[in-house]
Amino acid sequence: MGRVLIIGAGGVGTVVAHKVAQNSDVFTEIILASRTKSKCDAIAKAIGGNKIKTAQVDADNVEDLKKLLNLHKPDLVINVALPYQDLTIMDACLACGVNYMDTANYEPKDEAKYEYKWQWAYQDKFKEAGLTAILGCGFDPGVTSVFTAYAAKHHFDEIQYLDIVDCNAGDHGKAFATNFNPEINIREVTQKGKYWENGKWVETEPHEIHKALNYPEIGPKESYLIYHEELESLVKNFPTIKRARFWMTFGQEYLTHLRVIQNIGMARIDPIVYNGVEIVPIQFLKAVLPDPGELGENYKGQTSIGCRIRGLKDGKERTYYVYNNCSHEAAYKETGMQGVSYTTGVPATIGAIMFMKGIWRKPGVYNVEEFDPDPFMEQLNKQGLPWHELFDINLEL
Ligand code: NDP
Repeated sequence: MGRVLIIGAGGVGTVVAHKVAQNSDVFTEIILASRTKSKCDAIAKAIGGNKIKTAQVDADNVEDLKKLLNLHKPDLVINVALPYQDLTIMDACLACGVNYMDTANYEPKDEAKYEYKWQWAYQDKFKEAGLTAILGCGFDPGVTSVFTAYAAKHHFDEIQYLDIVDCNAGDHGKAFATNFNPEINIREVTQKGKYWENGKWVETEPHEIHKALNYPEIGPKESYLIYHEELESLVKNFPTIKRARFWMTFGQEYLTHLRVIQNIGMARIDPIVYNGVEIVPIQFLKAVLPDPGELGENYKGQTSIGCRIRGLKDGKERTYYVYNNCSHEAAYKETGMQGVSYTTGVPATIGAIMFMKGIWRKPGVYNVEEFDPDPFMEQLNKQGLPWHELFDINLEL
């Protein structure tokens, strides 16, 4: 039904390549491009069957991207490089008449700020070009946003309180490692906390608010309030929400390492001069930390991510918890990657299926909750991320 170009050959790109190749009835041609072509070649070889073409691209360079797009003429680009490349890839897509999808919102390299304003500013350009841009189609953002849209469509007249809960109860056996790109991950979790309450944002110190929450099949885990990008679009698209928060579990060991990394200046994102060479400390740190793509082999345990929602249905208050649990071992067995890459790459593939089938296709720039959640929810069950619902339970929040 269409040609797809995947940009980025890290943990998430590997999973997307596997899952897209499994859906050959939808994707007639698959091209995998990244900065380091040898990584694309290795992924294509592991999948086998000459299903995937590979290419080299510098996604920071619009002209380089345009050459690639004009050569392969894909219907859709799945951007699973880094958030820094979102705008250059969107520019190239506009120039070449190609549709766009990503899993993380744009952020400038010199400022760790998670805002959709840069990408929402492309709304008119995509609309006028008759092209679709789907933003944030991983797990969170992505599935959590679709879960919220599904709850609003089927179970609530009014969503009032939304808590997104993200637990990784896995153990990779390393003293310290991040589950996705270390630079992006550390920038995200060391920033101040922020949540939405009564029409405005409330800021907290990093990790200031925390409590133990019970996760299905896992049990209690200390969960920390952090800011996460889907809160911005969800409170805009569901204006009845009075309070929206995001919670993520961290182990004590992880937090201690993080504190030390920050205290000694290794989380800095501004360049410093070392021996006459300019380096950015957090980028140097990435080079010495374990590669998230290599964590899979010994990863045990599971992730559990979901939405806990309170609101009104037929004039009565009700609660609802919708979640997915994903086993790191099962993810590794299927794709060679751990659960965090898997839970991001599978929804990106489903978003691409939704686009190719014409179900999620409208000119402009949209967050995933602005599309029909039902066909996406159906695919989650088929593509490896089954979900579960609990009604009228104690949400603990
Ligand atoms: P990785 O660091 O493992 O992979 C990133 C890939 O992008 C690498 O192959 C890298 O190339 C490539 N790349 C980086 N810069 C460029 C460039 N200028 N040109 C071409 N290719 C480039 O990251 P992950 O796979 O862990 O994450 C991918 C994306 O998924 C990130 O944007 C992340 O924020 C997002 N994400 C979203 C989640 C969600 O739930 N929504 C959860 C987890 C991640 P090279 O190999 O040469 O370094």
